[in-house]
Amino acid sequence: MVVALQANYLEVELDDPEAGIRLLCTRRTRLAHRGAAVHVGDRVWVEAIDREHNRAVVAEVDPRSSWLTRPPVANVTAVVVALAVEQPAFDSDQASRFLLTAEQTGLQVHVLLSKCDLIPAEQQQALVERLRGWGYDPLAVSSRSGMGLETLRSRLAQGSLSVLCGPSGVGKSSLLNGLIPGLELRVAAVSGRLQRGRHTTRHVELHTLPSGARVADTPGFNRPELPGDVQNLEVLFPELRRRLEDQPCRFRDCLHRGEPGCGIDQDWDRYPLYRRAVEEMLALSRPSRGG
Ligand code: GDP
Ligand code: ZN
Repeated sequence: MVVALQANYLEVELDDPEAGIRLLCTRRTRLAHRGAAVHVGDRVWVEAIDREHNRAVVAEVDPRSSWLTRPPVANVTAVVVALAVEQPAFDSDQASRFLLTAEQTGLQVHVLLSKCDLIPAEQQQALVERLRGWGYDPLAVSSRSGMGLETLRSRLAQGSLSVLCGPSGVGKSSLLNGLIPGLELRVAAVSGRLQRGRHTTRHVELHTLPSGARVADTPGFNRPELPGDVQNLEVLFPELRRRLEDQPCRFRDCLHRGEPGCGIDQDWDRYPLYRRAVEEMLALSRPSRGG
């Protein structure tokens, strides 16, 4: 599997029985001629292995089961969204933007509530319940106390390649360091009034857990764009999805904005947020009336 890209090289990690061995690879020119891009997460075949210098040549790329553009990773099986309970404070709007982005992949979405050592158990439970109302089963974790890390390890072991995302400063690097002995990713201090981690640009790299499952961490960014297609917004809210499954709205193309006869009630936590997202997306898609 391609675990990292450098300027003209690919870092490829071998499968069993040579798991853990990394080769620095170039690619066959005919691959380049066919315009076949090779991405992190791709399964490739290597040849001309130079065991002494751990070098090889990538000859073929296997078809991908999935493809994410941001971060650019192939064959992802699950998306893990980390949200801090404190430092930075839990922000339902920002959390939802990350969750909507994750839902757009169509892959399984896991939610982590990080830094749980910073708030009392009752508050943790309240946030867990809140996220359950959104249709998720969040895992409360703390890399400081070690809480939840064992469960996180086994959840990650269920998929072969997970992407870890979430606002910068929520403790993603610290979690990876806690999960993978000897990793020692740089941990950035949360600084300033906004309590954001410093933005550090990194390339996507895959990290291998002791179970063999891999995790990609994503370069920090704080406010993902809303999706482009307002008609598809409803499927990105699991709690709305569930409502529509139980009792479909009888109007076609309904945006569930309180139209008389719309089958969707307004009595759910993220309804106001859903409505704001709809209005924002409509405003963006409307052609501007220039003078
Ligand atoms: P990232 O930007 O999401 O990768 O976050 P980092 O792992 O760099 O952590 C950002 C800051 O939060 C650092 O100062 C960490 O020491 C701190 N931090 C990370 N995890 C925890 C945690 O579980 N509890 C507490 N209290 N602080 C944490
Ligand atoms: Zn409706």
